[in-house]
Amino acid sequence: MTLVYIISAPSGSGKSTLVNELRKFVSNLDFSISYTTRAPRGSEQNGREYYFISRPEFDQMVRRDEFFEHAEVFGHCYGTAKRFLTEAESGNHDLVLDIDVQGAAQIKQKLPQAVSIFILPPDRGTLEWRLRSRGLDTDAVIDRRLATAKREIENYDKYDYILVNDRLDQSVDALKAIVLAERSRRSGATPSAQDSRNLHLAEGCRLEEMRQEVRRILRSFEEGSSGTASGF
Ligand code: ADP
Ligand code: 5GP
Repeated sequence: MTLVYIISAPSGSGKSTLVNELRKFVSNLDFSISYTTRAPRGSEQNGREYYFISRPEFDQMVRRDEFFEHAEVFGHCYGTAKRFLTEAESGNHDLVLDIDVQGAAQIKQKLPQAVSIFILPPDRGTLEWRLRSRGLDTDAVIDRRLATAKREIENYDKYDYILVNDRLDQSVDALKAIVLAERSRRSGATPSAQDSRNLHLAEGCRLEEMRQEVRRILRSFEEGSSGTASGF
């Protein structure tokens, strides 16, 4: 049975970086490419990061019931096509969805067994530093992303796992561990030594284990830009 992993994160938390690493290490994992009405940014290519379509084309896909979920984010439409799920199912692969909090809620309603992972920055200062050093956004856009991040993080308790992306190598290990631990749990087979290590690492990222840490991160957003900004 296909396992669906939902990954959400405030912009700049490191989701693309972590998902790219996950792709390298885990086999039989498909990645849904969303449809969006926003314009391509930087080196983005149609059919690689997204399918870039017009609003009338998007509306037509909605009318034809081609989306598994869709939502408006930052004034643009985004949607996950149903065909990615059917293709993953027929190839006996698992599927990763990189979607926002609203999309995650829609998927959880339709597919309660989907596994949801929320990636967070260690604090507001670090998020601001990463957004600035990525060099993709203007100051005004960065301010808006920081304000939106706080509202997104407030929805943290809808997710099964919380991953605080502090040290990149540790975050990659934790993300791999969550994906592989869920696979091994659903397979019902006796866990190998490696499976047991993954299960242990994944348990540490469970929502219940992470509540206090997320409250600390949320406080750093309430206190404004006083958080410590760490780099690589
Ligand atoms: P997102 O996809 O969540 O918007 P990115 O993956 O583009 O975020 O990461 C934002 C910036 O932070 C990038 O410049 C990336 O290289 C950097 N980054 C990601 N993870 C880490 C980390 N653990 N430590 C330091 N910098 C990171
Ligand atoms: P960006 O435009 O910065 O790539 O993405 C903006 C937000 O839209 C991110 O939070 C991303 O996860 C979300 N997103 C991307 N694709 C989809 C999708 O198909 N559905 C939903 N609901 N959100 C999406």
